[in-house]
Amino acid sequence: MPIKGVVFRLESDLPSEAKSLLEDFRLAVNHAVRAGLQARVTSRNALNRLAYKDFRQDHPRMYSQHLVSAFEVTASVIKLHRRRTRTNAEPRTPYVKRLMMKAENQAYKLDRGTGVIDLAIRAGCHVKLKLVVSQYHRRYLDDATLSLGSLTVLPDRVIVAFRKEASKPYIPESIVSLDTNESSLDGICLQGNDAGVVRANFRDVAIIQQRHHDRRRRLQKKKAHDRRMARSLCRREGRREHHRIDYRLHQVANSVLEFAERKKSTIVLEDLKGMKFKKNKELNRRLSMWPRRKLHQIIEYKAQWRGIPLVKVDPRCSSKKCPICGRIQDSRMGTLFECECGWRLDRHINASINLLQTAISKGLEVAGGLRFDPGAFQHDVMMTLYDPGRGARSEPNGTSCVQVVT
Ligand SMILES: [Zn+2]
Repeated sequence: MPIKGVVFRLESDLPSEAKSLLEDFRLAVNHAVRAGLQARVTSRNALNRLAYKDFRQDHPRMYSQHLVSAFEVTASVIKLHRRRTRTNAEPRTPYVKRLMMKAENQAYKLDRGTGVIDLAIRAGCHVKLKLVVSQYHRRYLDDATLSLGSLTVLPDRVIVAFRKEASKPYIPESIVSLDTNESSLDGICLQGNDAGVVRANFRDVAIIQQRHHDRRRRLQKKKAHDRRMARSLCRREGRREHHRIDYRLHQVANSVLEFAERKKSTIVLEDLKGMKFKKNKELNRRLSMWPRRKLHQIIEYKAQWRGIPLVKVDPRCSSKKCPICGRIQDSRMGTLFECECGWRLDRHINASINLLQTAISKGLEVAGGLRFDPGAFQHDVMMTLYDPGRGARSEPNGTSCVQVVT
């Protein structure tokens, strides 16, 4: 069941009862983290048995429903900690610093018309939180098919989880097969006998990453005498980068999904599990920064939300194989794929054809049938799904080199 977390600002500050509830909640989480690590338990139920009584004695008035969700948060903190122990021999015992609390949907009421949350603090004590509701929020509040999930309360905002009954995917009439590259999604759309090239560009993502990377470097050098300042500036830099890239990835994903929905297509993507790293440090940095996994996550999640069918296929040899004669080439240099049998095509488009063929051989079916005819394939006509109108702004700041334009 797809879940979407929607962030709401509060119209006024958090009431003091709610604030102390957040503090108690954090206390409960940190208490349970310690108890759980000591007793080596990780599941929510085991934590419940272990820490419930102790904490109850100290805080007899806390709503028990909240205590149970505190243990759920604890379970995820411990899980994260255990993952860290695998790579780091002596990680610090986790301590939750941020004020937060989570409430299950039985523990709060949201009036979807007025946007007021009624949150139970303890028996007989409720607080009302008035949410700031915009048009964007209305879309979720007014949609009666969405049910409410958990509520996360932070000092300045709340996050409401909306759950959707997964809509049944339509019966596909075409396939959009996409190869993910460093600055674009390239592929073909196959419908009946017609195949066309499609592309969604996100070339400014790499530019933004490079730029922020350089700026962080310069910041670190410039603030080498003040590590605290360097850290806080770099963190801000990272947040900006994250927002700028996220925005673009969502635009790309939306354009792909709108196209697929219009054409009633199944989307084919490569399965990115098990991507290998090389010895080249600079290349590794670029590969690990390359947000294609993130892009796939966004596309997958949005496709599920909108009921668009999507399959992932093993990308092995997809960039080296000839889709006509099946020969596998050694090198993958250049932008053009050329085979001894005479097949020539843009390398990225070629890879997407291989993905498509893998998907079909794995049993992907489409209403009306499909026939891919390389001879009739028009690859000089391209359909652009997304293209950033303007490139990334350069955003000069104090550490940027001043360029004099004459
Ligand atoms: Zn060939």
